[in-house]
Amino acid sequence: MFYVICPMILNNLTILEAHQGLKKKEFSSEDLVRACLNEIKEKDSKIHSFITVLEKEAIERAKIIDKQIASSGLNNFLTGIPLAIKDNILIQDVRATAGSKILSEYYSPYDATVIKKLKDAGAIFVGKTNLDEFAMGSSTENSFFGPTKNPRDLQRVPGGSSGGSAAAVTAKMCLGALGSDTGGSIRQPSSFCGVVGLKPTYGKVSRYGLMAMASSLDQIGPIGNSVDDVAILLDAIEGKDNFDSTSVKDAFKTKIPSNDNIFKKLRVGIPKEYFVKGLDPQIKKNIDQLIKKLEDGGAEIKEVSLPHTKEALACYYIIMPAEVSANLSRYDGIRYGYSIQEGKNLLDVYLNSRTQGFGDESKRRIILGTYILSKGYYEDYYLKAQKVRTLIKNDFQKVFEKVDCLLTPTTPTTAFKIGEKIDDPLNMYLSDIYTVPVNLAGLPALSLPIGEVEKLPFGLQIIGNYFEENKILEIAKTIEKLISKQVDK
Ligand code: GLN
Repeated sequence: MFYVICPMILNNLTILEAHQGLKKKEFSSEDLVRACLNEIKEKDSKIHSFITVLEKEAIERAKIIDKQIASSGLNNFLTGIPLAIKDNILIQDVRATAGSKILSEYYSPYDATVIKKLKDAGAIFVGKTNLDEFAMGSSTENSFFGPTKNPRDLQRVPGGSSGGSAAAVTAKMCLGALGSDTGGSIRQPSSFCGVVGLKPTYGKVSRYGLMAMASSLDQIGPIGNSVDDVAILLDAIEGKDNFDSTSVKDAFKTKIPSNDNIFKKLRVGIPKEYFVKGLDPQIKKNIDQLIKKLEDGGAEIKEVSLPHTKEALACYYIIMPAEVSANLSRYDGIRYGYSIQEGKNLLDVYLNSRTQGFGDESKRRIILGTYILSKGYYEDYYLKAQKVRTLIKNDFQKVFEKVDCLLTPTTPTTAFKIGEKIDDPLNMYLSDIYTVPVNLAGLPALSLPIGEVEKLPFGLQIIGNYFEENKILEIAKTIEKLISKQVDK
């Protein structure tokens, strides 16, 4: 067969396809980068995925990378590949706002470890993506820079907090992206935008250079247009880092999943607490049909129970704000960014800078967290929530003795309308009901787009045991193939 690859559609390629094209010299890295930048110019005024576009930097670097490819060839999947980075991850000398007014003019003096690794692999950054302020939210509406819109329906949110990254990947303004996930912020927007997103096991990826939201829950992870792409990105960013004492040794290197059908030996757990009232019946129906197909393919399906699921959201909304209040205390108008040098004394500087610099959701969580950690309440709230966290962890450990993975919806609904939940925080928090337990337990989970309800995508969440990302990726790839066969028919 004869292929002509037109430069106009280079941005539609997956990372793997682009790598193969670069290898065969069908196009250059500069062509790829320009295709993405053109797409950004064309679409991003409507979508608003990016807070900062690195046009000049990306083209300059692509030229350098092209020379390197010409002289020493291509030995990494990410060499010459244009990526987007959530704006709470630091790139040296590039503005890093975390979606906040308080950091709106902050330039990072160093690279996050994941960025250093991606640079070493030869990746190219086309821009920094929009997010809910300090990654707090489920819709990207909490950004100081204004909301991102869902490319699948501009009236709707892309999810959050990594909404800018998920939207950029689905709109093909980059070939892949990084997000961060504290309670679902990679998986939920991936579900709303119809892309693949993975939250790695806590400790698999260094958090050095990620602006901390809730340190015991945060993980950086990849978003891509295919399972292979997510595996490629994870492989590049994972590993032990001396700058992050919670990161762990490379004992479980990520592999690109094989093409084998793995259903025959698979034991799949379906947690009954995830298929209850509140879940869109159409999403449920689609997942039920998929489960039936897996069973027909030879998988053993077992209903399992995670009895403390109903406590997860309450537990998260105690532990998370407590850590947020501690982490965000560093933004005092003196050490970083936005500063109001008015008032009678130093306290006024702190107060005015923080009052004007933070948005409503950040303030809500700082106040809540400070209260939770205060004398007399610490035991009643924080300590108790930590005990509940252990129960949630134990629930998962028990079921992983019997099954290889758990399948659940990623979100109870498809993307909601912009403005629909912004004045109703409790309702907004409910969109993370299926993702939050995974962060509390520190487990890995992937969201895979498996269908649409009224033209809006939704994801299947595949949860695995600690450091079993390879197994999750294998399962996801087998399902991805199964679904694409149906579409081909
Ligand atoms: N939406 C959740 C929250 O607002 C999760 C955020 C995240 O994962 N960063 O806390």
